[in-house]
Amino acid sequence: MSSGLKLQGRIKMLEHTLVLIKPDGVRRHLIGEILARLEKACLKIVAMKMVIPSPEIINTHYSEDIAKRRGEHVRKKLVNDFSNRPVVAVVFEGVSAIEVVRKIVGDTEPKKALPGTIRGDYGHYSFDYADVKNIALPNIIHASGNKQDAEREISIWFSKSELCSYKSIHEA
Ligand code: ADP
Repeated sequence: MSSGLKLQGRIKMLEHTLVLIKPDGVRRHLIGEILARLEKACLKIVAMKMVIPSPEIINTHYSEDIAKRRGEHVRKKLVNDFSNRPVVAVVFEGVSAIEVVRKIVGDTEPKKALPGTIRGDYGHYSFDYADVKNIALPNIIHASGNKQDAEREISIWFSKSELCSYKSIHEA
């Protein structure tokens, strides 16, 4: 393979992914810790803001897909627990960033998430606990699940002009 083709391949692997530090993460002062973990993996922040989202934004973010996979009752809880509370929205850029960020974030259920992952190290709640409390499972962070979701989610929280393009020291 020529070096030109190799480079093309590498560039195709560069992805953007959306991370939300959820209201429980913000209230526990975990913003810096979470950003540090992701930055230490050489993932590059290209957009970031703190937002108090409306129910409409949360409803758009958690689309029909979550209702199909987890049930409409879960979507309602997410809208209820997320709306009108500060969250931090961040776009990370990196090679296979979507998969890599999900790996660092860990399993949806903190009870099951492995030590060393964000959800495993900073939480322990279970689906059962969320059911009993009638809340959306508090698990600190959201990260896009695939390319299609990443594109859709980034466009909900950021305009194109808010995404910054620059070379980090690793790339320079
Ligand atoms: P992930 O956030 O790991 O991508 P999902 O997209 O399946 O997981 O679910 C979105 C969010 O909905 C979860 O992060 C969690 O906060 C919440 N959630 C999922 N399933 C349940 C459930 N059964 N009860 C309460 N909350 C849930």
